[in-house]
Amino acid sequence: MTILFLAHTECDNTLHKSALEALTAAKALAEGMGADLAVGVIGADISAAADSIGGCGAKFYGVAGPEFADARYSSDLTAAEAIAKACGAEIVVASATSRFSRALPGLAIRLDGRVDTHLSGLDAVDGKPIAKRWFYRQRMEGTLTRDERPWVMTLDSGCAEAFDGAGSADVEAVAVDVSGVRTKIAGMECVSEDEQTIRPDAEMLLVAGAGWTKKQADGATHVDVAEETIMSFLTATKSSLGSSKSLVDISGEGGAIISFLTHMHQVGQTGSTPRHAKGLSTCCHGEEPHVVGWRFVNERRAINTDGSCGWAQGKCDVLYVGDAFEIMKKVNELLG
Ligand SMILES: Cc1cc2nc3c(=O)[nH]c(=O)nc-3n(C[C@H](O)[C@H](O)[C@H](O)COP(=O)(O)OP(=O)(O)OC[C@H]3O[C@@H](n4cnc5c(N)ncnc54)[C@H](O)[C@@H]3O)c2cc1C
Repeated sequence: MTILFLAHTECDNTLHKSALEALTAAKALAEGMGADLAVGVIGADISAAADSIGGCGAKFYGVAGPEFADARYSSDLTAAEAIAKACGAEIVVASATSRFSRALPGLAIRLDGRVDTHLSGLDAVDGKPIAKRWFYRQRMEGTLTRDERPWVMTLDSGCAEAFDGAGSADVEAVAVDVSGVRTKIAGMECVSEDEQTIRPDAEMLLVAGAGWTKKQADGATHVDVAEETIMSFLTATKSSLGSSKSLVDISGEGGAIISFLTHMHQVGQTGSTPRHAKGLSTCCHGEEPHVVGWRFVNERRAINTDGSCGWAQGKCDVLYVGDAFEIMKKVNELLG
C-alpha cells in the first residue's frame, strides 16, 4: 500500500512550511500503517524542493515545467492525477493551501475516491487511517475513517511539526500533457508583507475594536490617527491584526472606517480563532462572542478606558485602564 504526500513549490521553488508539516503527518501515517511513502512534487523547477526533503525515505515523483509554476486548477489536477496513478496511491496527503484546496477535491473525483479537507491531524490506529477534524468552530475535535480508496486528505497548517531532513532525491519524472489547457496565466501579483496584515505565524495578535472609531474625550472621532497608530505598531512588530465584529461591520453601516480592515480580520464566534502566543486588545469591549475567538491565545492583555469592560471580568491577564490612543502612541514611540 502506498501513501502519497503531494506538494507544490512556491514562487521561489521552495516548499512552504505547511507542506513540510503535512509531510511529517504523512510519514507518521505511513509508518503507523506499515505502508510505503511516496512523494510527489509539482512546480516549475522541483529539484531543490525535492532535495530539501530528500531524507524522508520516500520514492519521489515529479511533474515539472513552467506550466506548473503557478496555481491553475486544470494543470494542478492533471499533474496530481498522473502522480497518484504512477505510484498507485491509496491515500493522498497534502497541505490545505489555497492551491491544493482548489485542485485536490477534483483529484478525488477523477480517481473515484473520497476527499476530506481542512483536517487537523492524522493517525493510524490498529493499522487503519484516522483523520481528525475540528467541528463547531474548534470546540470539538472529531475523528473519522473511511473504507473508500483513494482517500485524499488535506491538512491545515500548524497541526504538525515541520519535516526537517534534506538529502539528495532521485525524482522520477512523470510526463503530463497540458497543451490542451485553455486557461492562461497572465501573471501573479503577490501582496507584500506590509499589505498583508493577517499573519497566522506571528508571535502576537493586535485586536482593534470599534472604540477606535468612536467619539473620544474631545467629542470628535480620530479615525485617521487610529489608522496610523495601528499600522505603525503592525509595521514595527509584524504582529497579526484582528478585529471585533462591530469594527469590521462599520463599513456596511456607512461609518468612518479603518481602511485596511476586512471581514477576514474578525476574531470571535462568527469570525476566526487564531493561534498566537500573545494578544493585545485595543478599544474592544471584550464581549463573550468576541473573546471566544481568543481561545488559543495564551497571554492576553487589553487596553480599555472602561475599567469594568468585558476584559475585566477575568478574560485577560492584564487590563490597562486607559486611553488606547495615548498608550499605543507611547508604545510606538518606544518601538522607535
Ligand atoms: C451571534 C453573535 C455573534 C457574534 N460574533 C462576534 C464575533 O465573531 N466577533 C466579535 O468581535 N463580535 C461578535 N459579536 C458581537 C459582540 O457581541 C460585540 O458586539 C462586539 O464584539 C463589540 O465590538 P467592540 O468591542 O469592538 O465594540 P464596542 O462594544 O462598541 O466597544 C468599544 C470599546 O472601546 C472602548 N474604547 C473607546 N474608546 C477607547 C479609547 N480611546 N481607549 C480605550 N478603549 C476605548 C470602549 O470603552 C468600549 O469598551 C457577535 C454577536 C452575536 C449576537
